[in-house]
Amino acid sequence: MSTDTPQKLIPQHLDPRKLAYQEAVFCGAVPVGALTRVKQAVAELKQVVANLEFRVAEEGEKVVQGTLTANVDMVCQRCLEPVATEISSQFKLAAVWNEDEAKQLPKAYDPWVTGEGEGDVYDILEEELLLSLPVVALHDKDCVDETLLSSGAPPAEETKETSNPFQVLKQLKGNIKK
Ligand SMILES: [Zn+2]
Repeated sequence: MSTDTPQKLIPQHLDPRKLAYQEAVFCGAVPVGALTRVKQAVAELKQVVANLEFRVAEEGEKVVQGTLTANVDMVCQRCLEPVATEISSQFKLAAVWNEDEAKQLPKAYDPWVTGEGEGDVYDILEEELLLSLPVVALHDKDCVDETLLSSGAPPAEETKETSNPFQVLKQLKGNIKK
């Protein structure tokens, strides 16, 4: 898999049945603005890249399989700061007309319920991404400094020290006048 940032966008609406016979392949970015449900679930959705391959399987299923990579900032459950997370997911879907047909699919496939013509690709990619989000995000290292936790305020001595130079200066001036 290439890690280059692709400029091409995955089209939002594609006909899985027609493209399966054409064995079409799509590779590109998904505009993050279109994935509103994912955006609500993370601190920041930075980039989503997908690869889609359409084909007709042995039993006649119209299959779209591919990979999905997303760069998101999750909220760290320890310090509540953003933690950069990369999410990778593989999926294998088969186009079905309805829920009844979905139940008859071999276990290897997840159903993509879509009617005649084009289906919403962003919708299935968003669903896939939501399922792949980590339940809990944490920084690798101990991100909360325990010394900060034990004393919230800065040491009192510091403030005394900062006022000292002026007092010393006044005293010096006073000495000169005398
Ligand atoms: Zn953290």
